[in-house]
Amino acid sequence: MTDRYAVIGNPIAHSKSPLIHAAFARATGQDLTYGRILGDLADFGGAVRRFLDSGGQGLNVTVPFKEQAWELADELSPRATIAGAVNTLTRLPDGRLRGDNTDGIGLVRDLGGNHGFVFPGRRLLLVGAGGAAKGLLEPLLETGIAELVIANRTTGRALALATLGEKLRAEQGWEWGKVRGGGLEELEGDGFDLIINATSAGLDGALPELPEGCLAPGGWTYDLLYGDRVTAFCRWGQDQGAARVLDGLGMLVEQAAEAFWLWRAVRPDTAPVIAGLRDGTLGLPAAP
Ligand code: NAP
Repeated sequence: MTDRYAVIGNPIAHSKSPLIHAAFARATGQDLTYGRILGDLADFGGAVRRFLDSGGQGLNVTVPFKEQAWELADELSPRATIAGAVNTLTRLPDGRLRGDNTDGIGLVRDLGGNHGFVFPGRRLLLVGAGGAAKGLLEPLLETGIAELVIANRTTGRALALATLGEKLRAEQGWEWGKVRGGGLEELEGDGFDLIINATSAGLDGALPELPEGCLAPGGWTYDLLYGDRVTAFCRWGQDQGAARVLDGLGMLVEQAAEAFWLWRAVRPDTAPVIAGLRDGTLGLPAAP
């Protein structure tokens, strides 16, 4: 029988996840369908239950439901527990729901695996302290970076996330990856090897206000946001002379591949899917 999966969010029409998972399924010969569900803002749990009751096997969860999915899950992976947000729900054989968060590993695989960024020993700046930034905390620290500075418009949220990071380091006994948090204006004079934009400022074409010179010579920039046009933060990276300027399309595909692995125990090849989304050919019928 064909297994059913879907992505749930609100809004959801723009989501590329159905295209991505359909491409994975075709390439790996998996018998599944993957749809999109417009979640009810007042009743997220109801929509999830209805999908599962009708035979659904798993869901990806996007804005604004990731925190609600975290609360709804009957059990959580360690990385989802730390993130406080769930982007992948899996129906277990006993009917309970397991929550995971594949966003952070998606970013690390895109940067490290697809683009060859070498994490150990590097100084990183994470801009933003919302849901996405939380999901990146543990996967980034795990890579062996030298230092992680978290800067946010609302300073208190950056400080809270940095405290969580330091707690995690202590629990894991990691000697690397010292974490500190602060406001955007405190960054003067710092030169980072990689600056990650995990703010939603770009959704309105805006930029977090970063001081000049906070990118080290040879440093890279990464915007979690992606779109048909170059994002404001990618333009900023180009203006700063970044050695590499990357957007979040690769992360989107890599987080999807990790969810596919959790559901199907099969790892799809991500490169052709990223390329197909970039050049607009994914989802189009094959040329005659
Ligand atoms: P969120 O929880 O709403 O957090 C938004 C963050 O952006 C907060 O830190 C907020 O600061 C900051 N911010 C918003 N407007 C700003 C501005 N004008 N200047 C400076 N900071 C600003 O959102 P999220 O879920 O973390 O998502 C963040 C971004 O990541 C979105 O663009 C989303 O599309 C993207 N994302 C991409 C992927 C992917 O696969 N590529 C996955 C997940 C998320 P305050 O705390 O001061 O409000």
